[in-house]
Amino acid sequence: MGDYMDMMPPSHRFISQFDFKGSGRQELSFKAGERFQAVDRTGDWWMMEKLKADGSSTGEKGLVPYNYMAEEGTVEEQPWFFGDLTRTEAVNLLLKGGNTTGSFLIRGSDKQGFTYALSVRSENTVKHFKIFQDEDGEYHVNTSSYFEDLNKLIEYYKVKTVAKGLLLTTPCVKDEPTGTELSLLPVDEWERPQEEFELTQKLGSGNFSQVYEGYWLGKIKIKVAIKTINYDVTTQETFVRETSFLKTLRHRNLVSLYAVCSVGKPFYIVTELLSKGDLLKFLRSNEGEKLNVDGLLDIAGQIVDGMQYLEVNNCVHRDLAARNILIGKNNICKIADFGLARFIKDETYISQSKEVPYKWTAPEALAYGRYTLKSDAWSYGVLLYEIMSKGMNPYPGLHNSELLRYLKKGNRMEAPPNCSDKIYKVMLDCWQENPLKRPTFDDLKTSIDNLANYEPSEDSPKPPNKPKGWMNKLRKPVK
Ligand code: ADP
Ligand code: MG
Repeated sequence: MGDYMDMMPPSHRFISQFDFKGSGRQELSFKAGERFQAVDRTGDWWMMEKLKADGSSTGEKGLVPYNYMAEEGTVEEQPWFFGDLTRTEAVNLLLKGGNTTGSFLIRGSDKQGFTYALSVRSENTVKHFKIFQDEDGEYHVNTSSYFEDLNKLIEYYKVKTVAKGLLLTTPCVKDEPTGTELSLLPVDEWERPQEEFELTQKLGSGNFSQVYEGYWLGKIKIKVAIKTINYDVTTQETFVRETSFLKTLRHRNLVSLYAVCSVGKPFYIVTELLSKGDLLKFLRSNEGEKLNVDGLLDIAGQIVDGMQYLEVNNCVHRDLAARNILIGKNNICKIADFGLARFIKDETYISQSKEVPYKWTAPEALAYGRYTLKSDAWSYGVLLYEIMSKGMNPYPGLHNSELLRYLKKGNRMEAPPNCSDKIYKVMLDCWQENPLKRPTFDDLKTSIDNLANYEPSEDSPKPPNKPKGWMNKLRKPVK
């Protein structure tokens, strides 16, 4: 296999990675290893034509979930390639049963300077190595050995140690994706009648809404989270307009919106359900207690990824805080409630009532209602404090009413216990008085990425050459 970036198969053929039983009228059922021709790859359900082994059509056409497919002739097909997996997801997968020392995977890296990362299990820990690619397209982990493709690199490190005593053995066991990772409807069909939803258990309530676990009795019965907007905080027109904008925002670190009900009160916002609840509770739980700095930084990094996406799409969050980050399988972090504050909480915010999350809000937003991505950057600093302190309350001992004066005098929160200067410096950058001096989320991404730990390689590699936008290539819909 050569460099997969150079091998753009003109035919867009795919191979199924798992068995799938279609339940909707338009869905195809298939077994792992079948071949398909892409017809339309927009959204999470792709229109595909099933092929016979010889590549000719079977005449069967229908919808398939995108994450069950791998493109033929690309690195996606490889059992050891896990796509845009985060560091924490990699750790959690490799530490699961079925894997042992030497189990490994390669994941894409969006980080500055290197193309892929190799994660390898070593006893009960996981080690990460950077894989660089040079101008000629050759790969290396360190400058003593270069490889024409990733397969050769892997074969080499099966016989020669990649770090002291550590050889690669078999690819990490792959999990079958679950249906709930998919947005199940195209944008224009997402207004649903309330009868399609069954509320089972209350998960929590905020100031403007209550959140329930429940079922969507739609195309297939799936578990969802249903947010009910409990009083007259907005008109139906505003609700429909704003939520249909939010629905267009799609990123792995944002909670996916599935549907809304705007006919009848209360309004519903139906989203994916995240199994581990909110980040604040998680940080304070036994599982959070066990996280080390790498794990915490990974969470911080995932949130930056989501915020960077919101930044590009000009969506101001306004209520960025650990309580509004949700955690799912393999510690994936997703930002919730983005953009909702704008149209639901506006009046309350301006009237400076008790509902304002004072300790997370930038001074200019508190004083003049000036909410921007730079006030989100301020909140991100506070959120980073919550993460590094494993869920401490910000400004311990300080009353809300004293906060603005405290900040105006130039005071800032102290670093949380055991937090490195480098990480604390990121918080202080976010808390600059002048919003323009605060970092963008693009800047923050670089800062947080640079804090993550990788195993040292024997030589220092020369500056690598990263193929541009490889990740987009993997998932970009092709018309
Ligand atoms: P707030 O953000 O003001 O605490 P919310 O109404 O947004 O209130 O949510 C209340 C609680 O419900 C959250 O803290 C979280 O524990 C839970 N929750 C909200 N959405 C989800 C979801 N999609 N999946 C799982 N739990 C959720
Ligand atoms: Mg919330």
